[in-house]
Amino acid sequence: MRVPVRSALRPLWNTTRPVIPCIWRGKYFSSGNVPAQNNRVTPMQRHLMYKIKSTGPITVAEYMKEVLTNPAKGYYVHHDMLGEKGDFITSPEISQIFGELIGIWFISEWIAAGKSAAFQLVELGPGRGTLTGDILRVFSQLGSVLKNCDISIHLVEVSQKLSEIQALTLTEEKIPLERNAESLVYMKGVSKSGIPISWYRNLQDVPKGYSFYLAHEFFDVLPVHKFQKTPQGWREVFIDIDPQVSDKLRFVLAPCSTPAEAFIQQDETRDHIEVCPDAGVIIQELSQRIALTGGAALIADYGHDGTKTDTFRGFCGHKLHDVLTAPGTADLTADVDFSYLRKMAQEKVASLGPVEQKTFLKNMGIDVRLKVLLDKSDDPSVRQQLLQGYDMLMNPKKMGERFNFFALLPHQRLHGGNHQVNAQQTKPSASPVAGFDELTWR
Ligand code: SAH
Repeated sequence: MRVPVRSALRPLWNTTRPVIPCIWRGKYFSSGNVPAQNNRVTPMQRHLMYKIKSTGPITVAEYMKEVLTNPAKGYYVHHDMLGEKGDFITSPEISQIFGELIGIWFISEWIAAGKSAAFQLVELGPGRGTLTGDILRVFSQLGSVLKNCDISIHLVEVSQKLSEIQALTLTEEKIPLERNAESLVYMKGVSKSGIPISWYRNLQDVPKGYSFYLAHEFFDVLPVHKFQKTPQGWREVFIDIDPQVSDKLRFVLAPCSTPAEAFIQQDETRDHIEVCPDAGVIIQELSQRIALTGGAALIADYGHDGTKTDTFRGFCGHKLHDVLTAPGTADLTADVDFSYLRKMAQEKVASLGPVEQKTFLKNMGIDVRLKVLLDKSDDPSVRQQLLQGYDMLMNPKKMGERFNFFALLPHQRLHGGNHQVNAQQTKPSASPVAGFDELTWR
């Protein structure tokens, strides 16, 4: 029997959490030509200039990697960049409804795949832990549906600072955290609802079991190589010291072809492209795992389906920031190329999307959820926040069309059958995948 989401959602939550009105990262495009307010030479810039002087110009990918995740000085490693006092804001920080609907998505997929006795929820780049926190609240509220299911949380995070904030958001303070900087699992804790949480630096270190994977605004911070088509063929964009101004960095084109050219697709028609080999490696790992043990991956980010060219940009203090100025003080990002992610899945699993955020959230029942929260609240400021958050997430001119959802699922999920159906049983027809289709409950 299918129960429409409307009636299933009604008895749920009536709590609202505060939101912060700030800027989101998908808004502008830039490639190093926007006047920067802050042009002091940072320790990161000194480090990069030393590197360039000793071994020559560096690729944009190496620049991004150093600036964002260098263990000593990286932007992500020691910053809390999210929220009002940070550099940008993300959907889970804007509205609790976002994470709640994603929680519903995982439960809906868990049901559709046959209600396994256990699953891991793995989040890549969990920021402040807000998204997982909202998902865990849904899991608690739907405890009767998930009862007897053994759930564990696995967070993949490179940032020391953010992992501490995630622990504060998610764990029960009375149970001390276990820390071991040398171990692949560098921290362990227990959620407020008693679910074990483990922290890793790499996806490869997360145990291979039946898992649901989540990556929100994670793929856009992975390093990209940039290429320009020239009469001599593809030439990679490098970063060098400006010979005219000794403490300034500038873009240059490589004089000959470079190894990363191997990542350019044969049928490429654009004349400027960004390729992200790290994204390919992660998608291959996710695809292998899902093909082997089942589960699903949900990836949400701003991006395109293989059409855009120059999207590398920086954000600092909710403003666009010159990517080559004061490195280490600003976020660097590039749009996700979903067509590349689809190719990297290599048909080991089925891929769905990208679909625009406004479509995905509508299909997931955002209007019903908003109404429930509005009906429950008498406080005009809370009601206004809820409406503003909805507008930010859904408005085509804001995040509604720039952000996309993309999923990887086992082939059998889309073609009927699941892991728990034996050969003699008739295969049930596959239920639609929520978000990519309207949400229904079996
Ligand atoms: N998903 C969160 C945060 C997005 S910001 C949200 O939507 O609010 C990007 C996140 O990815 C941060 O938590 C950052 O520390 C983490 N991150 C960046 N590069 C990473 C890498 N190479 N491996 C693991 N985490 C990374």
